[in-house]
Amino acid sequence: MNAPVPKPWVMAIAPYVPGRATTDSGKPAAKLSSNENPFGTPQAARDAYAAAATELERYPDAGAVALREALGSHYGVEPERIVYGTGSDEVLHLAAGAFAGVGDEIIYVRYGFAVYDIAARRVGATPVVAPDRDYATDVDAILACVTDKTRIVFLANPNNPTGTYTAREEIARLHAALPKTVLLVLDQAYTEYLDPEDDDGGLELARTQPNVLVTRTFSKIFGLASERVGWGYAHPDIIAAMHRIRAPFAFSIGAGRAAIAALGDKDFVEHSRAHNAKWRAWFADEIASMGNKGVRAVPSKANFQLVLFEGAVNAEAAYKHLMEDGYIVRWLPGQGLPHGLRITIGTEEEIKGVAASLRRLLGA
Ligand code: PMP
Repeated sequence: MNAPVPKPWVMAIAPYVPGRATTDSGKPAAKLSSNENPFGTPQAARDAYAAAATELERYPDAGAVALREALGSHYGVEPERIVYGTGSDEVLHLAAGAFAGVGDEIIYVRYGFAVYDIAARRVGATPVVAPDRDYATDVDAILACVTDKTRIVFLANPNNPTGTYTAREEIARLHAALPKTVLLVLDQAYTEYLDPEDDDGGLELARTQPNVLVTRTFSKIFGLASERVGWGYAHPDIIAAMHRIRAPFAFSIGAGRAAIAALGDKDFVEHSRAHNAKWRAWFADEIASMGNKGVRAVPSKANFQLVLFEGAVNAEAAYKHLMEDGYIVRWLPGQGLPHGLRITIGTEEEIKGVAASLRRLLGA
């Protein structure tokens, strides 16, 4: 064939399918398909972003010094141990690009975040999928997958799309049993939604161990998904390798300033967390009360709820019904969950509306 030939491992990638923003008929609907913050963005972040409009002709600071310093003082992490990217998606790709390639293996759990598979295949590495334990992460199953070709373990905590949480002791056990040549990537995109007493110990491991990378994002609780600001924290040698392959300018000047401003709005973050905790619990109880209709809620610690449809009404029918009622949620056949809907915990009105709509459909 007389044309450029894509790499076979690239052609093996199933493209990422994002959450939908509009209904089939185009009528207005609540978007509960991408785990965004229903309260929007902190006002100070909007202001900082708007003010940066006078600098559109300038390149951003390639070193993201101001953001790294702000993260350093906010989380007590060393700025020189921080790498950043165009969303934490890019940070995940940087980890794969720096530490794995053709002939290597990358492990993640069944129902793990969709980007892990893409990140592994993109660099020619072989994805290895560890079985779950009733949708939750099974540390022993991950360890059973480790071979001398394993280079990375990707683990989201809480996980997307299941919302399940892996306790600190289990993370420590996983890390302790992994060879030091394996990079453990703890993806904490939803960590700010955890209850205050929950801490999986990721930052502490990344601070003290040579082979742990924690990734974080401004897309979720900080309400800046549009601006694509993500970061990672690890040993300086890990960070230095990732810096070699990153794009020089990850995000705009406005995005960086908005992120710093959002970090400073503790009330916004706490209000978002508390609202989510209250209505996630309420929604899980609602689903439990419809249990005799074959639905169940997988225990979640994130800002969304995975609902399984195992009875007469299937997930596709529920997805379409919710869409008709004005609620766009995520149906997950491409992720091995044709029986699952992932529903973002929106405003009180939205989540009550979703529950009422499901009740009508199920006759519950
Ligand atoms: N990790 C997980 C587990 C996620 O759910 C997401 C968002 N879908 C990301 C990482 C990436 O988020 P972003 O690129 O917006 O930082």
